Amino acid sequence: MAGLKLLVVSTPMGPLGQGLGGGVELTLEAVLESLHRRGHALSLVVASGSQLPGTPLQQSWLEPGVPQPSWQHQPRQAPIEIPADGLLPRFWQRALAEQQQFDAVLNLGYDWLPLWLTPQFQTPLCHLVSMGSVGEAMDQVIAATAQQFPAQLAFHTASQAADFHLSASPTLLANGFDFSRYSFNPDPQPCLGWVGRIAPEKGLEDAAQVAAAKQWPLRVWGLKENAAYAAAVEASVPAGTIEWRGFLPTEQLQRELGQCAVMLNTPKWNEAFGNVVVEAMACGVPVVAYRRGGPAELIEDGLTGFVAPPDQPEALLQQLPAALALDRLAIRRQAERRFGLEAFGARLEAWINQAVATA
Ligand code: UDP
Repeated sequence: MAGLKLLVVSTPMGPLGQGLGGGVELTLEAVLESLHRRGHALSLVVASGSQLPGTPLQQSWLEPGVPQPSWQHQPRQAPIEIPADGLLPRFWQRALAEQQQFDAVLNLGYDWLPLWLTPQFQTPLCHLVSMGSVGEAMDQVIAATAQQFPAQLAFHTASQAADFHLSASPTLLANGFDFSRYSFNPDPQPCLGWVGRIAPEKGLEDAAQVAAAKQWPLRVWGLKENAAYAAAVEASVPAGTIEWRGFLPTEQLQRELGQCAVMLNTPKWNEAFGNVVVEAMACGVPVVAYRRGGPAELIEDGLTGFVAPPDQPEALLQQLPAALALDRLAIRRQAERRFGLEAFGARLEAWINQAVATA
């Protein structure tokens, strides 16, 4: 199929570049870049104040407004919430108004409104769902969309998709990464790494336990979403175990992350994908993770890392010697084969073409 004109709608969690959108920020860059390389023309709706991705865009609409609260920090029965002056309705007002110029609209936000709007759009509206089940209102609207427009939904992993009531077998896209932005590091230091939003669903406390038992420092990168939680984790292990490195842009993050001997990934929720797992692999860093959600599908046991039973820090600790012995270059190569922009772009394009053809 010839190049498509596509309108991509970003996350309404806030301006890009500060980590407010979590993994979706990097997903957005990979979506734009991989589709651009395949000859599609991209336009973007995004929060004003965003650091815009480097991919050439036909047009970008920078919308002002109040960020959307995150679903994952609300009770499961929470009603749909849209703040006054919200970014979310602005984004979708814009998409509704501009849709006629495009072959498809692609939604990257995990929000009720765009899913509910699917039947109202004349242009096919496709949703890349970025989390597992975190609330009943979202479960319902995802199930309803899956029923009526199955071709217009895609997920990152099978574990994530299994959270939802789907009538057809789901489209799985995994995720994509520009490996040229990650340098291979063959010479690690005796330290462990952990990357993620510092929030309870990410289970930093378990990684801290492993580092304390190993008597290696745990270097931690990410946005402190929950400062009280961060302080409690730090207090749970001997002083100096955790080294806070802050939230860094990809260029700096990958340089520092590459120095780690092993990265730990300890999700307490059904992690939809786990961008940071692939980012570590891209630097040559083996990953030892709980067998829970996306990371368990990303890690190839004995090749790119190891998985261990969830919620047992001692099981992670036991895997460290084997992980330290893995071939770091082979880790990067395998990750690139599966999650490079080329492989991701092919999956993404096939999905959008299918959605456009069946709409
Ligand atoms: N991240 C970053 N700098 C940091 C720490 C994290 O850019 O210092 C990014 C990381 O690249 C990843 C995202 O934060 O894309 C976290 O995404 P992930 O899929 O692991 O989890 P989520 O936050 O979406 O639950």
